[in-house]
Amino acid sequence: MKNESGVPNSRLEFIRDANVTKKEERTDRMEDYLEVIYELIKQKGYATMIDISNYLNVSSPSVTKMIQRLDESGYLDYEKYRGIRLTDDGIKIAKSIHNRHEILAQFFRMIGVDEEIANNDAEGIEHHLHHETLKKLEDFMTAMKDKRSPNKD
Ligand code: MN
Repeated sequence: MKNESGVPNSRLEFIRDANVTKKEERTDRMEDYLEVIYELIKQKGYATMIDISNYLNVSSPSVTKMIQRLDESGYLDYEKYRGIRLTDDGIKIAKSIHNRHEILAQFFRMIGVDEEIANNDAEGIEHHLHHETLKKLEDFMTAMKDKRSPNKD
């Protein structure tokens, strides 16, 4: 869709993306991409632009841009006909975010939060918790489980 004044809608996305890029070295969004790519490769053996745009609910041009950026930052290698391959750094971040997501979602479910809300909240918070906080949360959950399990047997 493009109007006569010559301002395509993607122009706004362009500006928005450019401003996101300036803020910090690695953004939450970059981490989400790495996590999704990692999951896709794990489950299907490869990650396509279409899959990425579907799972992250973003436009194809945005995906293309972000893949370029992740490539330039050394988190993945992208070649047009070979597809996407995560580097060791990319895999490390993806696994860490995945792990953080699991811990947080599990904690929210543990305190009675509905599955969907638990996942939504984890999706945002996973990028921001200090690793020490996360470790404490894990310890706490393990302690809670240990308390519960004798009653179950
Ligand atoms: Mn996230």
